[in-house]
Amino acid sequence: MTTVQTRCCITGGGPAGMMAGLLLARAGVPVTVLEKHVDFFRDFRGDTIHPSTLELMYELGVLDDFLKLPHKNTSVLSMRFGAFESEMVDFRHLPTKCKFIAMMPQWDFLDFLSGLARRYRTFDLRMGTEATGLIEEDGAVVGVRAEGPDGPLEIRADLVIAADGRHSTLRALTDLEVDELGAPIDVLWFRLPHDGGDPETSSFYFEAGHIVIMLDRGDYWQIAWVIPKGGFDTVKAKGLAAFHQDLVKVAPFLSDRVSALADWDGIKLLSVQVDRLRTWHKPGLLLIGDAAHAMSPIGGVGVNLAIQDGVAAANLLAGKLREGPVSQADLARVQARRLFPVKLTQKLQIMMQDQVIRPLLGDAEADEPPLAFRLAGRFPKLRRLPARVIGVGVRPEHIETHEDPAALI
Ligand SMILES: Cc1cc2nc3c(=O)[nH]c(=O)nc-3n(C[C@H](O)[C@H](O)[C@H](O)COP(=O)(O)OP(=O)(O)OC[C@H]3O[C@@H](n4cnc5c(N)ncnc54)[C@H](O)[C@@H]3O)c2cc1C
Repeated sequence: MTTVQTRCCITGGGPAGMMAGLLLARAGVPVTVLEKHVDFFRDFRGDTIHPSTLELMYELGVLDDFLKLPHKNTSVLSMRFGAFESEMVDFRHLPTKCKFIAMMPQWDFLDFLSGLARRYRTFDLRMGTEATGLIEEDGAVVGVRAEGPDGPLEIRADLVIAADGRHSTLRALTDLEVDELGAPIDVLWFRLPHDGGDPETSSFYFEAGHIVIMLDRGDYWQIAWVIPKGGFDTVKAKGLAAFHQDLVKVAPFLSDRVSALADWDGIKLLSVQVDRLRTWHKPGLLLIGDAAHAMSPIGGVGVNLAIQDGVAAANLLAGKLREGPVSQADLARVQARRLFPVKLTQKLQIMMQDQVIRPLLGDAEADEPPLAFRLAGRFPKLRRLPARVIGVGVRPEHIETHEDPAALI
């Protein structure tokens, strides 16, 4: 058994864990990040880098380098509802450096963050290492048990941050209470080739009881097909040919390429879950990102909120962690800082789920969009509001930690 001693152990190298790891290491806090996969290259998990995250890249002084990575800018989101067609979300007026969402594969983003973090001797990223248990002494978490490429190991730390996602292993090992907030939908994600003559903007389509979001990724469409909760088996039972037909009904321009979706393996089910821990911490342990609050995909804000949690955790804890352990009160401050944005965002998502999406899903007769959409179609200034909520979010975080020159390699 290998034993590692560090100041902070972060489980999960997703957006929340990598951001917290980078900022803590940069501020001179020894950090070990455990990521169970051997690389960041895996299934599509949300490729939206929001204006607020781009702002953080700017604050770190790396925005220009970041934007050199292959990506596609999305400044406007449109909607089509039968014959009604309009722009709905307009990011071009945001008070941020970048007035667009950068569509970029999440693995490129995570690789970029880990590349920045590797500049610090305080950063220790262990890929292919899965956290399997908590080490507890006298009622406090003092470390993590893990399985790495060379066998079992123990990482002892003053603080463990669980950023291991919506199916968090560490969360399941605690008695922290979770509030399930309800999700009446699931989402099927897949991609189809893009063609030169296709519509030019990423769009929401409401057609014949179907709700589909098509994100323009340059040479392909990333497509989200919304279905009632647990409905994937019903979709499959109708057969792939019927699915192709429905797809063409919604987006006729895809008729020449739906067959590229040749089997169900090309479709990834996102089983939507919306929940929130009542308390995000216990002595020696803090949960952030999806591990503390799984978000609905509505608005595509899960990555953004996870990153914001990472920034807040670093802002509030780096100073103390550099010197030694942090108290329960310190951890409570992170939750207090992040709870309002998370709660409000989930409230808006649930309102959308219940009042817009659920009624429209399956209602093949609906022939005009809800009032809010019609108003946004008529008054362009109204399109700035959803852009603000999606692109920047509630009470955005800014980087308050500083680089410790002694931490640089
Ligand atoms: C199909 C799909 C589509 C999505 N689309 C969008 C979108 O368009 N926009 C958006 O904003 N959000 C989207 N999301 C949600 C978004 O991906 C999450 O909200 C966000 O990634 C949460 O970040 P996180 O760091 O908290 O957790 P995660 O991104 O889930 O990262 C957790 C990390 O922990 C690792 N891990 C798990 N268990 C362990 C363990 N025991 N030990 C070590 N490592 C572990 C995982 O491998 C993973 O790398 C989507 C999610 C899915 C599944």
